Amino acid sequence: MSLLLPRTLLLLHPKLKIPKIPMAGNLSTLGSAAPPRARLRGVVFDMDGTLTVPVIDFAAMYRAVLGEDEYVRIKAESPSGIDILHHIETWSPEKQRKAYDIIADYESQGLDRLQIMPGAAELCGFLDSKNMRRGLITRNVKAAVDIFHERFRLTFSPALSREFRPYKPDPAPLLHICSAWEVKPSEIMMVGDSLKDDVACGKRAGAVACLLDESGRYDSPEYANVDFKPDFKVSSLLEIHSLLEAHFDLSP
Ligand SMILES: [Mg+2]
Repeated sequence: MSLLLPRTLLLLHPKLKIPKIPMAGNLSTLGSAAPPRARLRGVVFDMDGTLTVPVIDFAAMYRAVLGEDEYVRIKAESPSGIDILHHIETWSPEKQRKAYDIIADYESQGLDRLQIMPGAAELCGFLDSKNMRRGLITRNVKAAVDIFHERFRLTFSPALSREFRPYKPDPAPLLHICSAWEVKPSEIMMVGDSLKDDVACGKRAGAVACLLDESGRYDSPEYANVDFKPDFKVSSLLEIHSLLEAHFDLSP
């Protein structure tokens, strides 16, 4: 859309009145009157449930690890979600090993059914066209990231898995990527489907956070008073392309 009249038209019609155009933030063609847009130099993605379709039944996995009673108790205490890795960290080595076996089992079942999220390939293509950096942070294991990279032929670098400590929601992995890219956290967007892990990690690091909420589950009142709120919320990765173009100066 161009609201500016071509120079040739003005020369041909010197008395032509130019209509007053309301200034809007997203009309960057209007020059200095439009507020400057924040510079964005890279996007970091969560993997499970963000770049891939959720196939792990997390509730069933938590029940299997914690047992029904403990699951119900912890769930009531943490309405925004259970941090299973955090819970098992204080367990005895033997109990922990069993828990990790159960988690690995659920994760490997998930890998067999792995599918790419609609819009992920298109979004990566768009980011590539802008020479934007692409990173990945997951609480899943490195083997799962390797399979993801191989199966869908999309590369994210750095790609940090749960072998990188501390993991999300700690901001450390995102800050690590920022320093590897030599960019400021405020110039990075973290995209993920978890309020407690991805949005918290992004906001604690000082980045822009975008929540992928396909089902609208985060509209529920129980999430109204969370510590970290996303800057943007989308219901599909397909919405992110236009969001990036409307709100940011994409310059790597
Ligand atoms: Mg996720």
